[in-house]
Amino acid sequence: MLKYLLIAVVVIWLLYSPILRRARQLKRQQRPAAPSATPGPAKPPQVEDMVACAHCGVHLPASEACRDTAGRSYCSAAHRDAGPTSH
Ligand SMILES: [Zn+2]
Repeated sequence: MLKYLLIAVVVIWLLYSPILRRARQLKRQQRPAAPSATPGPAKPPQVEDMVACAHCGVHLPASEACRDTAGRSYCSAAHRDAGPTSH
């Protein structure tokens, strides 16, 4: 009676072990994919248009630029007040 129980346990273990191995492999495959997937959609907002200051020529993000009435970009209010220079 105990022999049959042992055989049944071994048979069940043999049936389930490949499934468990596959489940572990799937978990391993999912883990590296998750962190690499999150920076992907996060990157587009980090990429920002760069503009050059019309006075000194320094490049800065468009959102940080000061603009005059003509729409020219400047790195600071002081350079905006100083006006554009030809580079
Ligand atoms: Zn400047």
